Amino acid sequence: MTQVTGTQLVAHVTHPRVGVRSRFGLVGPLGDNDPVTQAPTAPESDALFARARAVTPGGVNSPVRAFNAVGGTPRFIRSASGAWLTDVDGNEYVDLICSWGPMLLGHAHPEVQAAVTAAIARGTSYGAPTEAEVLLAEEIVERAPVERVRFVSSGTEATMSAIRLARGFTGRDVIIKFAGCYHGHVDSLLASAGSGLATFATPGTPGVPESSTALTLVLPYNDRAAVEAAFAEHGPRIACLVTEAAPGNMGVVPPEPGFNKFLAETCTSHGALFVSDEVMTGFRASRLGQWGLDGAVEGWRPDLMTFGKVMGGGFPAAAFGGRADVMSRLSPEGPVYQAGTLSGNPIATTAGLATLRLATDEVYAHISSAGDTIKAAASEALTAAGVPHVVQSAGTMFSVFFTDPADGPVRDFADASRTDTAAYAAFFHALLERRVYLPPSAYEAWFLSSAHDDRAVQTVLDALPAAAAAAASRGA
Ligand code: PMP
Repeated sequence: MTQVTGTQLVAHVTHPRVGVRSRFGLVGPLGDNDPVTQAPTAPESDALFARARAVTPGGVNSPVRAFNAVGGTPRFIRSASGAWLTDVDGNEYVDLICSWGPMLLGHAHPEVQAAVTAAIARGTSYGAPTEAEVLLAEEIVERAPVERVRFVSSGTEATMSAIRLARGFTGRDVIIKFAGCYHGHVDSLLASAGSGLATFATPGTPGVPESSTALTLVLPYNDRAAVEAAFAEHGPRIACLVTEAAPGNMGVVPPEPGFNKFLAETCTSHGALFVSDEVMTGFRASRLGQWGLDGAVEGWRPDLMTFGKVMGGGFPAAAFGGRADVMSRLSPEGPVYQAGTLSGNPIATTAGLATLRLATDEVYAHISSAGDTIKAAASEALTAAGVPHVVQSAGTMFSVFFTDPADGPVRDFADASRTDTAAYAAFFHALLERRVYLPPSAYEAWFLSSAHDDRAVQTVLDALPAAAAAAASRGA
């Protein structure tokens, strides 16, 4: 599962991505053999960004979109189809973000579009139960190791609700998370590690009071000794441990073999719940998510799981679910309160159901094979340009870290933080010039879809050598 080749990575933190607005506009020398005939210009995006900043903080509705970590102007997207994005200036880009995971089938998939269009004709929200919710819940229960699910509108809501339920179920108050894992902007999870391994966290952002993180322990990822120490000191108070099933929010940092099993067993032996956050990996890393790569093979199940992204088919839908006895503590069956005006929205559940039904083994095989081709080509280009790097994967998810392979694989947030962000920014902009749209941050997974055909993949391959050269010169 882990593939380590050449370079390296960096991690972003448990709070919104921060970055340096740099000088990088269009970076990267164009060589004689460069495939670029005309680099895209973006006057309409520039104009919209200026207007957006006047009415919206930073001009965007989620920080990473602002390009702060790589510099330059974010592209405002007008439309998308298959593997391609079209910006407001008419430039087309191969999309290696896929809406940060959801678009497993590519953009505007005809069958998903048809299902959504038909659902919209029946009205867009009723605030009453629908058949689509039942069908989507059944689909998730059939695929994932959960007995019951509750729908919400975002991954943030899913993890927030799972933690409340874990505390309500166990009657305990302390929670554990790992540095570099992101679970949405939940106050108690926007936490930075305390001064010692078993000391409580401090707020990771202004606006979170100390009281909100005073019951959170933040540990280094892939560190069994740290987990054992935390349980030894605080065991009887620990309600749950929450982890990304395979972290993708500090770049892809797969769990070491047996790590999730160890977490599940440690939680169980201390009467705590193991909460596996599969918002990113669910129905994406494999047909059965990251759990399909470890739990299903090793024979264990999380107590609670969270889902989002793919299961919403590009609409705001997410879920948490798990053991029936735990989920039955949830309102209205049990006393733990949780609710949502748009939870289980009929359009979102219809899109999610259509997407999951179309997400066959062939879809995952295609994404995996296209990913292998791009990983190999990226590593080859970077090696040829003399850029140290490490490529890491979890199922079909992967990322390229601009770190020194001599330092070994990236195991945790501290390793990830060694990434050469200037090299990444140069790499990013050289690819953007060549119509390839990578995540605008060095600490993100690269996402593909079943719509990434030979033309899309070849566009990426053609662009990589020049991007590697730009990374080598760091845009100088
Ligand atoms: N958990 C994980 C693992 C995530 O990757 C994300 C979002 N990237 C979230 C939770 C939060 O989801 P949302 O952005 O829908 O609130």
